[in-house]
Formats: sequence, C-alpha cells, structure tokens
Amino acid sequence: MTKTDQAFSSAALGFDPEQLAERYSAERSKRLREDAESQFVEVSNDSPFANAYLANDTYSKLEERDPITDVRDVIVVGGGWVGMMTATRLIQSGVTDVRIVESGADFGGTWYWNRYPGAQCDIESYSYLPLLEETGYVPKLRYSYAPEIFEHAQRIGKHFDLYKDAVFQTSVTEVRWNADEALWVVSTNRGDEMKARYICLGTGPANRPRMPGIPGVETFKGHSFHTCRWDYDYTGGTPNGDLEKLANKKVAIIGTGATAVQCVPALGASAEQLYVIQRTPSSVDLRNNSETDPDWAASLEPGWQAARQKRFGEALLGGTIDPEFEDEGWTRMARNARALMQQAGDVPPEQLKALPQLADFKTMEQIRSRVDDTVTDPKVADKLKAFYNQFCKRPTFNDDYLETFNRPNVELVDVSETKGVERITERGFVANGHEYEVDCIVYASGFEITSSYQRRIGFPVYGVDGESIYDHWDGGMRTMHGLMARGFPNMFHCGGLFVFQLGANYCYGVDVQAKHVAYTMSELKKRNVQVAQPSAEAEQQWVDDQVSHESSQAQLVLGGSPESCTPGYYNQEGTAQRYRDVRMESYGRGLGAYRKVLDGWRMAGELDGLELTTAQT
Ligand code: NDP
Repeated sequence: MTKTDQAFSSAALGFDPEQLAERYSAERSKRLREDAESQFVEVSNDSPFANAYLANDTYSKLEERDPITDVRDVIVVGGGWVGMMTATRLIQSGVTDVRIVESGADFGGTWYWNRYPGAQCDIESYSYLPLLEETGYVPKLRYSYAPEIFEHAQRIGKHFDLYKDAVFQTSVTEVRWNADEALWVVSTNRGDEMKARYICLGTGPANRPRMPGIPGVETFKGHSFHTCRWDYDYTGGTPNGDLEKLANKKVAIIGTGATAVQCVPALGASAEQLYVIQRTPSSVDLRNNSETDPDWAASLEPGWQAARQKRFGEALLGGTIDPEFEDEGWTRMARNARALMQQAGDVPPEQLKALPQLADFKTMEQIRSRVDDTVTDPKVADKLKAFYNQFCKRPTFNDDYLETFNRPNVELVDVSETKGVERITERGFVANGHEYEVDCIVYASGFEITSSYQRRIGFPVYGVDGESIYDHWDGGMRTMHGLMARGFPNMFHCGGLFVFQLGANYCYGVDVQAKHVAYTMSELKKRNVQVAQPSAEAEQQWVDDQVSHESSQAQLVLGGSPESCTPGYYNQEGTAQRYRDVRMESYGRGLGAYRKVLDGWRMAGELDGLELTTAQT
C-alpha cells in the first residue's frame, strides 16, 4: 500500500467515502422539489405580505417631508455597505455632491433591518467591517453583534458626512434616463423627481425577504413576522435576547439557515414552547468568539486592515493560512486538505483529484461529531447533522444553537420528508400530518438572493430610447467590468450583480468596485465628459470572457455541482438553472484577478472601452 493509499483509506480517514457519498445523494434526492424556485412567493407592494414584511418599517416612524426635485452629481440607490462605500470612495476621490437614497430610516442596509436577537457577523469583524482605519475604530469582539455593526454604519455616515445629503425612508419607484438633459431621473414613493448626472444602483444582494408559498399561509390568525422585521413589541427583549413577552407563547420558527442558527438560542431561552421547523440542517461549527485584546488594537500599524483582509481572503480561498486564522472556522476545510496532503506524501495526479472531496468529508464529519457531543437525544442529534458538502449551503458558526435542543421546551420538527411545511392553518402549522398550535410564526426563510435582478431590485430602469434594462438583458446580462451597460449611460451597478460569491468577505469585494467607480466618475468629471457608456466591442469582449472562461464554470461549482448539492439558494434550489447566466455571477478567475483587471484599466488611464460624449462649454 502506498503512503497515499494508506492516508486515503477508510481506516485512516475514520469514514467510508463511498458510504458518505451515497448518504449525501439520498439526502439531496429527498429534498428536491419539482417547483424548486417557484415555491417562494414574491413579496411585492401589492402582495399579502407587503405590510408585514416589506413596506412596514417597525423600527422608525415615518417623517413627513416635501418632495425633492433637485439635481445632484450622483445619486446612489441604497444606504447599506455598497451605497455607503461607493459614496465614501466617491467623496475621497473628489466627487462630493453625492446623495444616498435609502428605504430604511438610517444607514446600515442589512444591519438596519436585521435586528433579530443574536444577529452577528459570521466573518471576523476586523476584516468584515468596512473603513475601520479611516474611522479609527477597532471592533470590541472578534465577531461583532448586529448593534455594534449598525453603530459602525452610523459612524461611517457621520465621519464622511453622508447624512448631510442622504434621503431616508424613501423607496425608488423608477429610474429613467433623460437624454435631452443627459440626466437620470429618480422617482420615489415620496413623490420625488430627483435628477443626477450619474447613478449607482447599490441595492445589495439580500434586500428582499423571501417567503415560502406554503398553502394557507395567509390564513394564520396568530402573529407572524420575518426575521428581518423582528417585532420586539410582540416578543419583548432586545437583540441581546431576554424576549420576556414570549414566556407564555408557543412559537414556531421556519428555517434553519444562518439566521435561524443565530436567533434560535434566544427563542429557546424565552418561549414557553419553541418548534424549530427544519427542512435541511445547517452545518454548525464552533464560533469561539473573543474580546479584542486592547494591546493588539493599540499595536496596529497603518494599513493593517487592508493587509488583514488580504490575508483573510487568501486563507479562505485555500492559500497560505496565516497563524491568526488557524482557529478560524472558515479555514477548517483548507486545514484538513493541508493535513491530508502531509499524510499522503507525494500524491499521484490521479489521486490528487480525490483530495478536495476527502477534505470536505473530513470537515463535515468533524462538524457532525459536534452534534453528537452536544445534543443529548441521539435521534434529535441525527436529524441535526448536515449530509452535504460544506459549501453547498452557507456554513454557520454558533456555540449555543445545538445546545438549545437539549431544552425541554424546544422541539425539532423535521419536515424533510415532505419537502417543507405542509400547510399553515388559522391556528398554526401542519407537519408530518400533525397540526401544531402556535401563537407566533417566525419566518427565517431567507432572502431573494438568486431570483431575477428585476425581482430583487423591484423598480423599473429605463435607459436610452426608454428601453427597460430587464428587456435589454433578457438574453443574458451584458456589462463591461460587471459595472456599466451599453444603453444605460452614466449608470453603475454596484455590489449586486457581480461581486456576489467573489469571496465570503462581501465588503472587501464591494470596496474593489467602489474604488473603481470612484476613479471612473472622477475622471469623467475631470475630462468634462457628459455621457459615458461602454462601446459595443468592449461590452462584447467582457461578456465573451465571462462566458468562455473555464474558471467561471469552476467557481460556480464551489462545494459541489448543482447536480450533487442539496438544494438551497447557492444552487438555485437544486436546479441547474442557477448557471443560466454566468455573466451575472462572479468573475471566474476570482476576486484577486478581478481587482488586477480593474487596477490595470485605471493605471492605463485611458478609460479604455468607454464611449465618451464631452459636454459643450
Ligand atoms: P437561508 O436562505 O439560508 O435559509 C432559509 C431557511 O428557510 C432554510 O433553512 C430553508 O430550508 C428554510 N425554508 C424555506 N422554505 C421552507 C419551507 N417551505 N418549509 C420549511 N423550511 C423552509 O436564509 P437565512 O436568512 O438563514 O440566511 C440568508 C443569508 O444571509 C445567509 O446565507 C448569509 O449569506 C446571510 N447571513 C449572514 C449572516 C452573517 O453573519 N454575516 C447571518 C445571517 C445570515 P432549506 O435549507 O431546506 O431550503
């Protein structure tokens, strides 16, 4: 037996890869649904969920104001990380007349809306929170909780004076190019008709809650809300927990993704009875949070955050793992792969191919063994184990979630056999043929992350000759750099189309684009350009590269192909259709390579590929 055969044997691995592969396949088949994506109903302004889940901002009172009809240099739609970072980089590059339009009553985006108890950033805060050095802030914890993150969004707003020109509690209803004036006209639900030379769409990838179209959902007579509109008036308590008004309430939570994993501990600790309705278990690894060491914080040198983000990104993507990230959950798989390599010696090429899958099995076995170590009832423990490759679904990290299932008032309701909750009734929900009566249903059912761009953005965008961008992209998304589209001049698509999946640290990818947009716009202004759009050739070149590059395909099968992964939003609910349009997906060669392309373009200083119309002076 060679050293590699030895290292790859079931005895040495501690599991049988073939048996696991069969189990994964069976678990996947159990969950595939004919109606895949259409199982979710659109939460639009005229849907039955509009008030409860979309239009209603339960966190603030609507402030009256007069409609706005002024003209600015730039309007940025969205006041989450994308909008804030784009605006910040614009201001830093000298483009200062920037208005952010935001539907919430403050900055923060996802961190404005998601206030559920236990909400936490699952990427380390030193890498995730943007603009730490610029604002002179070091997070209190390695993994910050939502209130600190929201506060940081406000800090950025104050530091860069973004509040001055921002318009809150305002939803865009239409964006239209006015060719006569070479201006974008932004209409809103507050009667505004704001105009701007440039527009950045920064609505983010997870701005719209996703509701399962469970039969009878509208008949429920109890209370219900989505996790991104947490109703503290009903539950009592705060984001820190202690939901005292639930002490005499029976509560059901639908979903066991990253959000549910964070809020179930508080619900379990507070509710009289909690039913956790699980279709597919999450992989729940250790969190191991810690307070920031003040000596370490004081020792940080200028440039520390960018350097750390780079090291963190490398560690996540299987490159060098800096000792700082050796205990980081996100690097567990890379560490397992490295250990296997060491044990296997010189691995022959034909066996090398097996290594990533073996490292994945190993990782998931470790995560599954945590369940056995924590959950006392073996039947419940078995149901909580995730049998799929780690990146088929968003990995989660929490030290209290599994423990919650040892509470006598908490019941795991497995609905995998029926592919979800069967029915919602006036009094509760039906699962496995049994009706459970509850006072409250919490929907932890996620966000419309991979539905169509039109559905996620939710407002029409009309470019040159009144063409709708959604019609324009009907045959597939066409852009240059994932940012600008021909026929939609002076418009930048920031953070939504293209950086998704560029790396687990979303904000880092967003900043790459924000700096690029800032440079481009400042150059256009300096050169007195009135209208800029990609030439047909430049756009085609980018599309060809995106579509043809083989690594576009490779990156999309991160963690397993749609044919092998258990369904979820990472793989368009198990259909191969997610891969229908690689042009809207991540840059195939990865974030580092994407950054180099953009850096090179800026260094050349030619605004190459853009068709420019200079203003008459
Ligand atoms: P997800 O989409 O990950 O999870 C939705 C859950 O609802 C799944 O468990 C799904 O089951 C379940 N579900 C949907 N329909 C039904 C049904 N009919 N019956 C029963 N269950 C159903 O949403 P999350 O809000 O948990 O997470 C969304 C994303 O937000 C994360 O992946 C992550 O990117 C981000 N996030 C980030 C955090 C951070 O710390 N930075 C924290 C929380 C979220 P199934 O799996 O079977 O489809």
